[in-house]
Amino acid sequence: MNTMRRRIIQYQNRQLHKFGGSSLSDIKCYKRVAGIIKKYSEPGDLIVVSAAGTTTNQLINWLKFSKINHHLASKVQESIRSYQENLIIGLLSKKKANLLKFNFLSDFTHLCSLLNKPIDNYIYSEIVGHGEIWSARLMSAVLEEFGISSQWLDARLFLRAEHSSHPEIDEIASRPLLEKHLQKYYNKRLVMTGFIAKSKKGQTVLLGRNGSDYSATQVGALTGVKKITIWSDVAGIYSADPHKVKDAYLLPFLRFDEASELARLAAPVLHARTLQPISFTNIDLQFRCSYDPNKGSTKIARMLESATDVKIITSHDNVCLIEVILFKYQNFLQTYKKINLFFKKNQICPLAERVKLKNQLIQFCYTKEVAYNVMCNLNKVGLVKKISLRDRFSLVAIVGAGICKNSLYKDCFYQNLKDQPVEFFWHSKENISLVAVLSTNKTLYLVRKLHQSLLLLKKHFKLILFDKSNINFCYLILLHSYKKLFCFIIFIKIVLYKNVIVFKLIQINCVINYY
Ligand code: ASP
Ligand code: MG
Repeated sequence: MNTMRRRIIQYQNRQLHKFGGSSLSDIKCYKRVAGIIKKYSEPGDLIVVSAAGTTTNQLINWLKFSKINHHLASKVQESIRSYQENLIIGLLSKKKANLLKFNFLSDFTHLCSLLNKPIDNYIYSEIVGHGEIWSARLMSAVLEEFGISSQWLDARLFLRAEHSSHPEIDEIASRPLLEKHLQKYYNKRLVMTGFIAKSKKGQTVLLGRNGSDYSATQVGALTGVKKITIWSDVAGIYSADPHKVKDAYLLPFLRFDEASELARLAAPVLHARTLQPISFTNIDLQFRCSYDPNKGSTKIARMLESATDVKIITSHDNVCLIEVILFKYQNFLQTYKKINLFFKKNQICPLAERVKLKNQLIQFCYTKEVAYNVMCNLNKVGLVKKISLRDRFSLVAIVGAGICKNSLYKDCFYQNLKDQPVEFFWHSKENISLVAVLSTNKTLYLVRKLHQSLLLLKKHFKLILFDKSNINFCYLILLHSYKKLFCFIIFIKIVLYKNVIVFKLIQINCVINYY
């Protein structure tokens, strides 16, 4: 096969792997990720990384404290420095470690000098985005140590975006720049920084918290990869956040529109823009666990039937309400339409909203991360009489194609919320989500309760088997493959009919998913 042909095949089969901060939080994690890359990737594949562990949060704290509490600031500074240095020393040979330590310390000195200046948006981004530089550089060096030829790349070399509340990658400007780098290093694993891009003025632009997923799908779409795998500390997308709900179960498949809605509702598992770059492509997207790749996965499927079932309970404990009051003489509907158009044009549509015609009031719900920015932008347009921001709200939602048409689910959702401080309910036009905005920021108990009554009660069965013979296990396997209720009934009948003598009691909890 000639080189050209081999190169074309390589491009056609190219994959992208993205590793989140929790997959890179210590020395063991880095080694595990290197093993995954060795096993699951080929030369020419792309790797996107987030900052290691909680580095981004630490950088934000460092920045904050530097202006209000010098003692705390230097403590955080010291912990960032020792954390990064320990990773480098623990992972690399002495010679290579010295080089990386030198590079790290020169970055660090640069960041310290920036902290002495007044902090604006640009300095903030430059400092907070540095965690990804350190993790990409280190991951690439670790791969080389594992005998895997690799090159790290600062995404600011090729990803172009401008500052805004939801920065968007300029594909036309970025594509040729990226292509140039890909050609240069076609036979290496390329480790790229997530989360950061560069503006026309040459300043660092952050893509929003958890924005590395967006970097990954954007780079994947720009290069036309075959498959994107997002590796994290959980196996995929669950029926609820598995860190909060212990009974949450993994969804092996999720419809594209359901995943998009989940992202739109600011669920931490999916950055709001993650699916956008690949929505008109046929790139496969899957989620997997870097701690245990065999734990299962979630595939985002474009063609999947749904039975108007609730798939996921999601929540956000840090949302705000932007309240807009119109002038008495203003045409309410017209202004409302104009505001919505403005949101759409600037890609800052709210998570949920309520219209109170009688009071000439509209409430728009946003995450705290973007609310202030949106409010400032809306203020500049000058369409309304008064705009204010109210803090300390939360959002709880159920997601599933067509669920708003299912009165059973709707009733159950309202019932569960009847004693809660609900500010308002909202449902998506596509009937894919039902949202409650609450004037509290504690939703843990509520999410568990909703999960229990909407997702577990109907599908969670306790089976008591009076036998441990092979035949029982055969039925269990059957049950798993058919995933239908009648399997239970047949199973129980047969067991009772065939087992007169009780040998042993086994109790099994079985969760059945409908797809
Ligand atoms: N490191 C960034 C953050 O913590 C981006 C990411 O993790 O995707 O938000
Ligand atoms: Mg992260």
